Amino acid sequence: MSDHAFATRAIHAGQAPDPVTGAIIPPIYQSSTHVQDSVGGLRGGYEYNRAGNPTRSSLETQLAALEGGASALSFASGLAAEDALLRGILKPGDHILLGNDVYGGTYRLLTRVLAPWGIETTTVELSDVDALRAAIRPETKVVWLETPSNPLLKIVDIALIAEIAHAAGLIVVVDNTFASPALQQPLALGADVVVHSTTKYLGGHSDVLGGTVVFADDRFFDQVKFQQFAVGAVSAPLDAWLTTRGIKTLALRMRQHSENAQAIAEWAQERPEFAQVYFPGLPSHPGHEIAAKQMSGFGGMLSFGLAAGAATARAFVESTSLFQLAESLGGVESLIGYPPDMTHASVRGTELAVPENIVRLSVGIEDASDLIADLEQALERVSR
Ligand SMILES: *Cc1c(COP(=O)(O)O)cnc(C)c1O
Repeated sequence: MSDHAFATRAIHAGQAPDPVTGAIIPPIYQSSTHVQDSVGGLRGGYEYNRAGNPTRSSLETQLAALEGGASALSFASGLAAEDALLRGILKPGDHILLGNDVYGGTYRLLTRVLAPWGIETTTVELSDVDALRAAIRPETKVVWLETPSNPLLKIVDIALIAEIAHAAGLIVVVDNTFASPALQQPLALGADVVVHSTTKYLGGHSDVLGGTVVFADDRFFDQVKFQQFAVGAVSAPLDAWLTTRGIKTLALRMRQHSENAQAIAEWAQERPEFAQVYFPGLPSHPGHEIAAKQMSGFGGMLSFGLAAGAATARAFVESTSLFQLAESLGGVESLIGYPPDMTHASVRGTELAVPENIVRLSVGIEDASDLIADLEQALERVSR
């Protein structure tokens, strides 16, 4: 599949018709074990399904093809994927450098779950390469970054960070959840590993939880696969199947998400009620040029700061009707949230805390005119 373009790989990689019945869609192998013809005589390599399941394999093949990776592993959630990766590549005494605005759950996993087991974490402003260089210690093993970031849509230059990190012998991990592989290909830019919450754009329909680790090459696969097998946070067959189904329309969806978010950002920029608009597709965004260089679209995530402050921001997210008030992102339907009390509640008071006047949108693929009308009526309601 590697000689085909992205949208073709999304539809065909790992998705060959069922050889037995000709079903064009590979079946959901809803089974916990596979019959052996003799002791150890497996048909197709499958035994107990914590170790492997054909539906999961079909998703893993598809995910590796999307990111241009050598292999992928599929997990029950994004955080389960991150946990298996970190325990697979780190050992007690190791140190990890974390972008200072990564997903709050990643920060929580490192500082509250893995820290007691001897993994040390430092956060660093990755747009400042001197700060990155200064933060590297003899024990540092990994640089972990997220771009665009959540909820401020900060942009990090993946190729530049990879160059600096590789010169120091570090492993570069990119959480590519916000861009999706349709808009950004971190492995091609030099990253060693990509992680995703497939719950978001890859699944795309807000109906399944999942995560993945995609590897540029074979160095870390066995260690992480062992963690997955030994601990067991695998994706269930139906969840894996729903994700393969969602992925087939990823390229189309990301185009529309990006177009709608651009229209909303340009509208919001003209409204005096918004003191800040955070969207990498605006030329005024500090990361615009790097984003334009390393992404093929600016994505569907957008935040703004209400000039009237925190109370108005909170009231605003409760005043929309098409934009549903909910955690999560990346589905076909538009969502709105108040990060300080929702997605970022766990990092309040830490160095990852976000502005109190901020509203985050996950812009769906509805008609942009309806979305803007909804935001307009919400502005009217909160300014009454
Ligand atoms: C949601 C999310 C995660 C965690 O994924 P889950 O599927 O919720 O476990 C990790 N990184 C980013 C950027 C996310 O948005």
